[in-house]
Amino acid sequence: MKLRKVTAASAAVLALALTATACGGDDSGDNASSSGSGGGDKIKIGIKYDQPGLGLKTPDGSFSGFDVDVATYVAKELGYEADQIEWVETKSADRENALARGDVKFIAATYSINDERAQKVDFAGPYLLAHQDLLVKADSDISDATDLNDKKLCSVTGSTSAQNVKKDFAPKAQLREYGTYSECIAGLQSGAVDALTTDDSILAGYASQDQYKGKFKLAGLKLSNENYGIGVKKGDTETVNKINDALEKMVSDKAWEKAVEANFGPAEYNNEPAPKIGDIVK
Ligand code: GLU
Repeated sequence: MKLRKVTAASAAVLALALTATACGGDDSGDNASSSGSGGGDKIKIGIKYDQPGLGLKTPDGSFSGFDVDVATYVAKELGYEADQIEWVETKSADRENALARGDVKFIAATYSINDERAQKVDFAGPYLLAHQDLLVKADSDISDATDLNDKKLCSVTGSTSAQNVKKDFAPKAQLREYGTYSECIAGLQSGAVDALTTDDSILAGYASQDQYKGKFKLAGLKLSNENYGIGVKKGDTETVNKINDALEKMVSDKAWEKAVEANFGPAEYNNEPAPKIGDIVK
């Protein structure tokens, strides 16, 4: 009986000690990189989990895509090997808050640089230029943004894609805003929506998936310029500068081109050439 009490007490002490290690020693509110004892440093990076070709978590628990490759390259330049990366899902609407809270060190998640976001976060890059487009069923007669008024259109909350629809090119469309693009794809397949709109890079990735082959088509419209940046906590200029150096190196040593071929090749996505750091196409 006595022994059991002692054991329970030690367990409680141990639990406390573990909790203290997990959240102690860091009052900056930045939990994105940590120096654990024994396990080495870790870095937390925000990506998408459901965008094939860009950021995808596969059922076996591995991660793939262009954003994943860019983030892995950048992390290495910041001093972290691939096995020190902890991937965190950052959905479109969560990105600014995840950075502000310090949940992740940086975000590489089809994250377009724009003025509104730049008031809340800092951006390195750009590292890719994409364009907003439409994905429709293979037999659909929607071919233009003007065909969208009175149609059911799907996009994602917190994305520039949804914002552009409302502000610019189809204010009269019935816009459904879901949490992720994979939910929109399901809606397109079931007929709940007539079209899905977001970046062509993302749409090409979905359209090339085995289960969707021949079912959907991209309209081929360049409705906007989406300059992908790497989001960093507001004021962390040091990290922005280091990431910009890493991105420049990634282009000059051809790793950028290799990542493009590996990730966009299967989707036959015709990407734009590598952008210059700081060069935002309006
Ligand atoms: N690139 C656009 C954006 O940052 C659309 C894709 C996304 O939602 O991640 O909002």
